[in-house]
Amino acid sequence: MATQADAQELAALRALSASIGLNPHMTQAAGGNTSLKAGDTLWIKASGTWLKDALSDDIMVPVAMAPLLEAVDRRDPAADKPQAFAIEDLNPRGLRPSIETTVHALMPQRVVLHVHCVDTISLAVQADGEAEVAKRLGGIEWAWVPYFRPGLPLARGIAERLRPGVDVLILGNHGLVVAAETVPDAQALLHRVRSLLARPARATAAPDIAALTTLAGDYRLPAGIEAHAVAIDAESLHMAEAGSLYPDHVIFLGQGSVVARPGEDVAGVVARLGAAPAAILFPGAGVLMRGDASAGADAMQRCLADVTARVDGKARLNYLTAAENDELVNWDAEQYRQKLNAAGTA
Ligand SMILES: [Zn+2]
Repeated sequence: MATQADAQELAALRALSASIGLNPHMTQAAGGNTSLKAGDTLWIKASGTWLKDALSDDIMVPVAMAPLLEAVDRRDPAADKPQAFAIEDLNPRGLRPSIETTVHALMPQRVVLHVHCVDTISLAVQADGEAEVAKRLGGIEWAWVPYFRPGLPLARGIAERLRPGVDVLILGNHGLVVAAETVPDAQALLHRVRSLLARPARATAAPDIAALTTLAGDYRLPAGIEAHAVAIDAESLHMAEAGSLYPDHVIFLGQGSVVARPGEDVAGVVARLGAAPAAILFPGAGVLMRGDASAGADAMQRCLADVTARVDGKARLNYLTAAENDELVNWDAEQYRQKLNAAGTA
């Protein structure tokens, strides 16, 4: 830390990060990240760590900002490996900076918060999302960034759309970025934008736990009862069945969603697919998770229920293409994050 003031600001950011991480409507699992610029150093959440652990664990990594930005500018693939820019003397645990480090470095403001807010995502997956956000964010300097894979492609997409004064980014099929000079100002802006983008979730019936239990085999109920809604609400189920809506869904749960056919139990679905998916949706009843599914998978399955319940049932949606799904699954940085997740350290 360069100064006492920077150290105090980082402490405030860690407290805010932990509170963001505990709100499943704001961030899920190892998703979302926060940062502080202190001189030429960017302190950013480490890849694979959870924001909710920001106070109990050392999850912030120092990164040399200028060379990273130069790499983005040159379209140098090195910008896709932010660990090459970590300041090792200040990083005794050898943590890797978030794969979204470039998003934070590109914003000129000192404090940046990136969240996978379910209200924002519910708009950001709609084909008319930019127009719908425009109706709600009057008086805010914001920019819309269409979907790009996190890392260098997203950094380039942001760099091309960033105008002076912009302190809010809506990332298509992804989430929200807010930036300010202080932690309290960033927190206030986050609250304001989330309030403006808030949408009611469609109410759903309760899950049929008895039916799910008879179908389960070696699968189990989700960690939270909220996850079931996506299989119970017909509109949400239809949206989920049609594909992958945002990157962390693919990372933690695989491509799209698996829906059981009438009369099928878990064993029947697994036999039909020749594989055991992380989650199976049983229409009208609820969701079952594979016995060894990670905490991250549970968090993302609930996220799918929270997002789809807010999407306008009549809206046309943008889904990740087959190529976009593949590049997430086969990407080194994401394989690292999945490994931490599977190990339970994420
Ligand atoms: Zn993100």
